[in-house]
Amino acid sequence: MKFGTFLFEPKKVEGFDFDLYILKQENGKLGTSQIDMYNQIACFGDSVTATKHPDWVSESKLGLAKRGNNRYNFLWDTLCPTVEEYRQHILDYITEVDKIGLGIFLSTIHFADHGYCTCKRCNRKWKASGLEWLDWRKKIVTEFVMDVKERVKKPLTIGLPPHVANLDECCGLDLNSLDSYADAFNVVMCSQNYATACYWEMLARAFKKILKKPVYVSLYICGPGDDPRRIPTVDELLKLSVRVGRNGIDGILFISDTAERVREFQKAAVERVGLRDELKTYGCQPVLDLVDKWEKILK
Ligand SMILES: [Zn+2]
Repeated sequence: MKFGTFLFEPKKVEGFDFDLYILKQENGKLGTSQIDMYNQIACFGDSVTATKHPDWVSESKLGLAKRGNNRYNFLWDTLCPTVEEYRQHILDYITEVDKIGLGIFLSTIHFADHGYCTCKRCNRKWKASGLEWLDWRKKIVTEFVMDVKERVKKPLTIGLPPHVANLDECCGLDLNSLDSYADAFNVVMCSQNYATACYWEMLARAFKKILKKPVYVSLYICGPGDDPRRIPTVDELLKLSVRVGRNGIDGILFISDTAERVREFQKAAVERVGLRDELKTYGCQPVLDLVDKWEKILK
């Protein structure tokens, strides 16, 4: 197993195998590409571009793919993936970032949600394709990833939402096809708590069953602006790490707003002596070895 940080700021934390920086966020916020980190790029989730180009926002019968459309659960605005100008722009951007950093992680490579996108452009392309609607959507997403893979030289990791059974109908993600182009996958499991660990463990196991390439799971320490009373506890994070790890997950990333908060998590994990002892019987030694490593670093 490998362990990484997954940060909103371009800082590394000692005690991990690699560091991932969220270079381009789904809200459109853009940072500076990092040389000695992996860089994550949100593709079609881009609220800034959605505001600048309202005609690029994805559409469905139930409205635009924008925050505030309560028929869905949008945390950001999503662009139509067939806008040629934007598609070209993001492909060029990914190519440039690939030259700089250690590798690329992508998020939001897919359609916004069920029923998207029904804009005039998509309808025209779909009808011309002669394909069934859901098959056409999958083709659009897979072609985008194929285009990325042709351009990048370094490892390409595809970020996935955790709702494993509906990724095709919901997002147009065809996991079998994507398995041919991605070097690894990152299932992002954001939650305010991991109190019911069995659900998350079940999802991790399902992704491992379907995908042949390495599968990472990202767990949530704390995001920007979060209320510290509404974030997962250290015990939940440690327990879930062990539980996803014992199902063959190839790596865990820890999501945090700052490097400092990751260091606080490391310190708190080391101090959970009783829990670390209990977890020895759970069947995932690499997570416990990781905390042992942190203990040595922090001494
Ligand atoms: Zn469209």
